[in-house]
Amino acid sequence: APVARSPLQLVAERRRHFAPSASLAYAQPLKIVRGAGCHLYDETGRAYLDMVNNVAHVGHSHPRVVEASARQMAALNTNSRYLHDHLAGYIKRLADILPPELSVIYLVNSGSEANDLALRLAQAHTQARDVVVVDHAYHGHLSNLIDISPYKFDGPGGGGRPSHVWVAEMPDTYRGRLRDGGKDIGAGYAESVATLLMDMIGLGRKPMAFIAESIQGCGGQIPFPPGYLDAAYRHIRREGGVCIADEVQTGFGRVGTHWWAFETQGVTPDIVTMGKPMGAGHPLAAVATRPEIAAAFAGGMEYFNTFGGNPVSAAIGLAVLDIIRDERLLANARARGMQLMDGLRVLAGRHPAIGHIRGLGLFIGAEFVQDRTTLQPDAAALKTVIEGMKDAGVLLSSEGPHHNVLKVKPPMVISEQECAHFLGLLDRVLTELGR
Ligand code: PMP
Repeated sequence: APVARSPLQLVAERRRHFAPSASLAYAQPLKIVRGAGCHLYDETGRAYLDMVNNVAHVGHSHPRVVEASARQMAALNTNSRYLHDHLAGYIKRLADILPPELSVIYLVNSGSEANDLALRLAQAHTQARDVVVVDHAYHGHLSNLIDISPYKFDGPGGGGRPSHVWVAEMPDTYRGRLRDGGKDIGAGYAESVATLLMDMIGLGRKPMAFIAESIQGCGGQIPFPPGYLDAAYRHIRREGGVCIADEVQTGFGRVGTHWWAFETQGVTPDIVTMGKPMGAGHPLAAVATRPEIAAAFAGGMEYFNTFGGNPVSAAIGLAVLDIIRDERLLANARARGMQLMDGLRVLAGRHPAIGHIRGLGLFIGAEFVQDRTTLQPDAAALKTVIEGMKDAGVLLSSEGPHHNVLKVKPPMVISEQECAHFLGLLDRVLTELGR
């Protein structure tokens, strides 16, 4: 058995040998040794309610996922060059929950791999290179994804915007140019896409793709105003570009009403990428696209991915889909999402630090401000709240360009009691903050 080290020893060893640019959560990092449902447990057996892990979609270490994984691992794991029932069954099940147009599936191992492949598909189909992205977006850690992620290239250590990348205004109806309550805000924000396209075409170039998360995650948990994606997609398609929906954070029913968040905008993308929740912690991700785009990419070079589509990953993916169906997790996301949004609104009524509550299903943001008229962000208050909640036994984290958005995106199996417990503790911590 491995030696059990204290958290302090682990910090020291990590400092010596682990990627120095990787961060740790919390001033005093946690050593987590076990997970079950919505709870994580440290080495002393202390339980923490996990309100932020959207990878543990069906709950931490779900017994059906563990069983499917162990059973298939014991039987066979190899690449997709052999026929396998799990692979066939899984891509069929994925196609069944996607729009019928998106009938071709590629299985990969991370959200970044999925987005990288999406760009290659778009390029093969359009023969263009320019990409329109939404400000503050994050699409992954590969070189060409840092290039299309303003969150990274405009952030610490970033090299700025590459010349083939065009950044559209973030449709933030709380802080942005057009605010809540106005008419046709979605189309209004999409005008920013149209303006970029005019500039692009003026330079003799044309768009390869528009890529957007269907609700912005790193950008600050920002759902788009109605009509935004529809208008943006129309502008791009008019100029021959394809539309990519990055559902890495928002897919698999998290929004409660639909399997995919793009459906809440009434659009059908040309390419959809998915990851995080798909394997409930096992590295599993995918790209879905239209047959004609897949055909353009199939013109010569083989696509081989060592781990993509292996039978263990497929077995796990199938188990996750079964659990979502059998435990009615979309309905739960809807009900618990409403409970959390209502509860947070009540808290906002009592605690002036919360300036804005937003979200869909179990993808929620609460924005912290110093002043509700100037909207001056309050990252320090949020940091205090997150540390206070940790001491109270709840795990959370922050997001957004001003680091002042509390993100709430628990596993989809969260119960009514757990949500009530979270809201009660948050009330207490916010009251202490107010003193
Ligand atoms: N797209 C989005 C919207 C993401 O949030 C992330 C990860 N945070 C990625 C892509 C990249 O996924 P991965 O870390 O699995 O490569």
